[in-house]
Order: sequence, then structure tokens, then C-alpha cells
Amino acid sequence: MSIEERELPKPTSIAPKFIRKDHWRGYEQESWRKKDKKTVTVMYSFIERRKSYFLRAWFKRNGYRFLDMGDHIKEDVRHGREYGNRMECNPMYFTSGSLIRHLKEIEKDKGLSREEISKKYIFLCGGGQCGPCRYGMYPQEYLKAVNDAGFRNFRTLVFSSDLGNKSASDAALRFNLSFRVSMAVAFILGDLLHSAECALRAHAVDRAQAEEALVRAEEMLLTAFESRFWYWTLCRALSKIGKIFAAIPQKKESLPLIYVTGEFFANLAHNDGNYHLRKFITNEGCEVIPGSFTQRTLYDNWRRTVEAERGIRYAAPGEDLRPYKKSLRTQRNSTAVILHLYRRFEKAMNPRAFGGRTTLLDLDELSEVGAHLYHPEIFGGEGNLEVCEAIHFAEAGSIDGFISSKPFGCMPSSGVSDGVQAKVMSMYPELLFLSIETSGDNDVNILSRVSMLLLKARKHHARRMGLPGVDPVLVPQKNDDFDSTAADETQEKFA
Ligand code: SF4
Repeated sequence: MSIEERELPKPTSIAPKFIRKDHWRGYEQESWRKKDKKTVTVMYSFIERRKSYFLRAWFKRNGYRFLDMGDHIKEDVRHGREYGNRMECNPMYFTSGSLIRHLKEIEKDKGLSREEISKKYIFLCGGGQCGPCRYGMYPQEYLKAVNDAGFRNFRTLVFSSDLGNKSASDAALRFNLSFRVSMAVAFILGDLLHSAECALRAHAVDRAQAEEALVRAEEMLLTAFESRFWYWTLCRALSKIGKIFAAIPQKKESLPLIYVTGEFFANLAHNDGNYHLRKFITNEGCEVIPGSFTQRTLYDNWRRTVEAERGIRYAAPGEDLRPYKKSLRTQRNSTAVILHLYRRFEKAMNPRAFGGRTTLLDLDELSEVGAHLYHPEIFGGEGNLEVCEAIHFAEAGSIDGFISSKPFGCMPSSGVSDGVQAKVMSMYPELLFLSIETSGDNDVNILSRVSMLLLKARKHHARRMGLPGVDPVLVPQKNDDFDSTAADETQEKFA
């Protein structure tokens, strides 16, 4: 049969089968008014357990009913994927899944109907800003997921870190100065304890003693933060805590230093959200220099400051110019408050006495070192931060490994860690760089790759410190919390 004689398939129409007449509209929701303050419970999780824990103090001081949802767990991803849209970035699955898990637990434990739950609970979440990444879609995604899970008309309270956003005057919870400052205090306390944990878990002679001290410190800080005079009570508590930490006996050895950074959630979750990455690295006998929430918040302010300055340069005088000037003042004030609190609390705790690494990087300097590879005004996700950090540490030659952690499906971080960082690595081959992608269910694969990096980092450290005759491969480190069989096999294969 010749080609001409064959029956050709009928052309398939590519016209859409269904055409919407209206624009898509988001889920509508009723506001939470002051008169209902006492009958509604605020559910929230603030990236990781510790920061959520400290934020309790604000809810207690202000008479709110609240449910601290704490850390995200692996099971959350399953709930999030079941009810969320396809191809979301991973933090959305974790956070919406955690919400659905808690709602289902409330239904089971308290015997409330789904309608009652939707009336009596509200979810405090972030989202809305951050243009080019998916964060702007988060509020509607939460509503889609909970509605599809059967909790119809469930409400959310969307917190935007943009200080310009105002809440309605009769709102039951207003994102006023008191709330914003308390949020800043919660993340600063979380960061300081986290840096203490990274130092003490790595170096303490008795790790259990260090962990007990950290738990005790959390309790002391929460009690201090619940006081109306929290600024002074926290300073006193931090000073005592610093002395307790400094009294914990430490081993004298120097350990390989690993800097961990990346996308906000994957970097700072410190739980199943990033496979307990820092704990894993410490258990493997290395020390982590932790990226901090404070640094990331300062980056947000820095970004808005740059935007405002650019606006001031180009806007016409009068109406056009005013919002930029206002934004510039707001960002400068916010930065000053955060830096003041951070430095005051840091001074009170005195992390240098126990080896805590709490130095914040200068964002102006960072933007300059990386400007030729990543324009400082390309915003979205972490912007230029990770590229500049990599160059900063490569030039300083002060670390033995650099890990960039990004969630599966993250758009801005993929462009950075899979794209621009390739160029940085070619320029600085001494920088041991590893990019990992967290999906919530690939921990063996990811932690095996981290193990491989740590293996090289030990050699790098021995070389950097001039330790002759030390073959770090022959000094196996015990990891108590992770079944490392797969990782060990991979390590042996490549050693
Ligand atoms: S930075 Fe990445 S992971 Fe984070 S919200 Fe944006 S797209 Fe998602």
C-alpha cells in the first residue's frame, strides 16, 4: 500500500472543550470580627516547632485561643498532595497537609462536625507577596485544599510580611505593631537557640546534657516572653541561659564546617520538611553554620528598600513619589528594630562563650560580591542571597562544605542552585557545593548525597587545618538518629 492509499487519521481539534464565561474568582470568606474573638481558635505553625512555640507568648498575653501546630511531619505531604493542586512547590504540600491533618484530628478527638470546625477555627498563614514565586498563590491554595477535604467555608487569616499591609479596625486579630514585633522576637529567639544547638550538639562531650539544657532554655524563654515586660525578662533569661550553655564541657577538636542555606522553608524548617538536615550533619561529626530566619527577614527588608530607592529615583514628584518614601521609612524602621532586638539578645546570651555562630552577613556587601552573576534587583524567592553567600564563603575560604536546600518544584531556587551556582562552582572549584531538592519522601537519596559531601568536607577540613597524616575517611562518625545503611553503602562504593 502506498503512502497515498493509507487512511490518514482525522485531525484532532485543539479547541478547548469548555470555555468559562466569567473570570475565575477566589474563595470568598467571612472576616473574623472582634465580637467572635473568644469563640474562635487560631491555628498556626511558624516554619518550625521552636518559633511557633515562642509565638505562643503573644497569643497568651493577648487572650487568644490558639493551637500551635508545631513541626511539619512526613504524613503532611500525603494530605497536601491529596487535596492540593498538582505541581505545587513542596512547602505548600507540607503546610496545607499539616492543616488538614490537624483539622481531621480535631474532628476525631473533639467530636465536632466539619461545619462547627469551620466556624470555631481559623488558620493563620503567610502568603500573598513575593511576586515571581508561588508564595502569592498560597492563601487560595489553602482554601482550595481545606474545602476539597470537606471543611467548607473554613477561614484563613493571611499575614503579609509587608509592613504596609493593614488589618481592618474591627478585625479580631490585627497584625499591628505588637504582633509584628512579637513575631520578630519569636524568630530571633528561635535563631539564637538554633545556633546554640548547632554548636552544642557538635561539640558537647555529653550530647544528652546539651539537649536537656536546650529544652530547659526554651521553657525559660517562653516564661520570660509571656511577661508584659518581656524585653527585660528576656535579656535576663538569655544571660542565664548563655552561662548554662558555656558551662557544658566541650571536646577540644575542630570539626568540618558546613554552611546550610537555600529556599526559606527547605532551609529553615529543621524538621521532616528538610529531613532534619542540620541534626543529620551534626550527628555525622561536622558542625553547621546555620542560615537564619533573621537574616532572611532582613533580606526581605533590604529588597523592599532597594525597590523604594529605585522608585524614588524615577517617580514623578507628588502622588507618585509618596508611597516610595513611605515604604523606605517603614523598611528602615523595621530593619532598625530587628537589628536592635537581635544584637541586644545576642549580647545577653553571649554565644561566643560556647561557640555559637550568630554573625549576620552584611546584605549590601553581599549584593556587591555577586552582582556580576546575579543582579541584586532580580527578586523572588531568596533573590541574590544564595549566590552571594556562596561567593562570600568561597573567597573567605572559611568553610568545608556549602549546601543549598530547595523544595521540589521551587521556581526561583531552581534557577539559582541548578543554574547560576554552576558558574560559581566553575569559578571556585575549592567550594564543595551540593544542591539538594526536598520532596518530603526522598530522604535516603538526599541524605546519601549529603553524606558524600561530608566525606569530602572532612578531607577538605583536614587540608585546610593542615592536619598531616589524618585520613578522615578512617574516622567513622556515628549518627544515632538516622538509619544510614543506604548512605554508608553509597559512601563505601565511592570511597
Ligand atoms: S520560593 Fe520556591 S518553594 Fe518557596 S514559595 Fe516560592 S516557589 Fe515555593
